[in-house]
Amino acid sequence: MSATPTPADVWTSMLEGNRRFVAGEPRHPRQDAERRHELAHAQRPTAALFGCSDSRLAAEIIFDEGLGDLFVIRNAGQVVSDSVIGSLEYAVAVLNVPLIVVLGHDECGAVRAAIDSTGADAPALPANIWRQVAPIVPAVRRVLKGNQGASSATVDAEEVGREHLRDTVAGILRASELISEAVADGRVAIVGANYRLADGTAIADVVVGDAS
Ligand SMILES: [Zn+2]
Repeated sequence: MSATPTPADVWTSMLEGNRRFVAGEPRHPRQDAERRHELAHAQRPTAALFGCSDSRLAAEIIFDEGLGDLFVIRNAGQVVSDSVIGSLEYAVAVLNVPLIVVLGHDECGAVRAAIDSTGADAPALPANIWRQVAPIVPAVRRVLKGNQGASSATVDAEEVGREHLRDTVAGILRASELISEAVADGRVAIVGANYRLADGTAIADVVVGDAS
């Protein structure tokens, strides 16, 4: 990869790594002592990854990346917050990453909790957990509205997850002028991707900017 990779270079390389992971042929690149020493005083990650905290979504493993490659931010349900935006802005403005990957997934517990919270007689969640999953509820309501007769028990959780992923990408752009401008200038692209737990594949669902 060149010294200043484009968003498309980085996404292509991440997809190649994901393919190796899916095929069971990971290279585990850049994970040795030499790399560790090389990075001791400075980092130059090629992408920021904002994903769900789910233990099965280990960023460097599923994209077959190494030390110093990904600037990773995760929380349950990949929900935008001030802390997330501040970290992403740091990655863009200080570390100059050309790509932000937002990673959601199927069978997401946070998405499930948001869906369940909309049911009649749903038990109240502990306050802090509720605060974390509440931003997913608009996606639940939209999908319920679009599928007549669907209820919290029958709604397609994957569809809700995809809607929420798109909301997350839109939310980053809305919350951050710095990131929106970098995207408008072509310095940064955002890829919203869905990770499928069983297959191990990360599939782009929404792309903002030029990442292909
Ligand atoms: Zn999740």
